[in-house]
Amino acid sequence: MQKPNPSGEYIVGVDLGGTNVRAAVSDRQGKIIGDARLASRAMEGPDVTVPIIIQVIRDAMAASGVTASNVCGIGMGVPGRHISRDGVVLWSPNFKDWGGLQLLAPVCDALGLAAYMGNDVNVAALGEYRFGAGLGKNIGSMVMMTLGTGIGGGIILNGKLWLGANEGGGEIGHQIISPDGRLCGCGNFGDLESMANRDAIVERALRKIYLGRKTDLTDMVKPKYLDLTPALIAEAAGKGDELAIEVLDETGRYVGIGVANTINFLNVEMVVIGGGISQAGPVLWDPIMRTVRANALMEALEVCRVVPAALGDDAGVLGGVVLVLQEMGE
Ligand SMILES: [Zn+2]
Repeated sequence: MQKPNPSGEYIVGVDLGGTNVRAAVSDRQGKIIGDARLASRAMEGPDVTVPIIIQVIRDAMAASGVTASNVCGIGMGVPGRHISRDGVVLWSPNFKDWGGLQLLAPVCDALGLAAYMGNDVNVAALGEYRFGAGLGKNIGSMVMMTLGTGIGGGIILNGKLWLGANEGGGEIGHQIISPDGRLCGCGNFGDLESMANRDAIVERALRKIYLGRKTDLTDMVKPKYLDLTPALIAEAAGKGDELAIEVLDETGRYVGIGVANTINFLNVEMVVIGGGISQAGPVLWDPIMRTVRANALMEALEVCRVVPAALGDDAGVLGGVVLVLQEMGE
């Protein structure tokens, strides 16, 4: 594997998703100077997607006016489970035929730069820790939780990502919080992901609507209830819709249990909650914090801040930047 170029001023961070791949060029302080985005075409196989990744990196460097000789290296956040050191993807949800794929070698070869990778949520946690919610807080430990289609997690201990024995660490979405609850894709019943992910939120609202409850949501999605999204529910809740408020209150309670468990277990200094729905405001955060205060052990809670993610869409690419910085001992 190629070594990073310590004399470069810039680093390229890549955030690979099932729909889009984004590359951003950043200086060593996490200031993004240019970026590019392309459709990742994940279902068309690695022969299509890997060249797209290489192209989006070239596009981002061109957009920034930066040449390869001035780049230290590339850091990528990739969904799924990997042997990151070897650049190998073990499996990746939504990416066709990626099992066993050697991802880093073709990227290194095409661009002549060192490249590193990690699980997407782990990498986003690194980004928040160094350049986002953790910036300037002088903390050594943090857990990031992302709420979305799935619920992912990343654990930072002593300033370093905790990968686990075989890179399975940080799966806080699969902690069981209600054993008689919904079925998760992982096979568990009632884990945090199954109780508070996107589908759980929508399903909870639909169930109340089918029971005949009055809500503004009925008009907002008419006639297709399948168009209901957590964002719409958050919007209705913000306008005082009782059913929507109730749905987010229940969701916040489950998330709060997950956060309290995390605090009790790890005694970290910060828990960062990201993902679209985390921006819903007090209607979600009040029940989260109420539950955390009720369930977290007092001494552990005293030293822990629970905060929303600060970087939004930039967490992934900036986390990639951190991968390279850490490789250079910075
Ligand atoms: Zn699960």
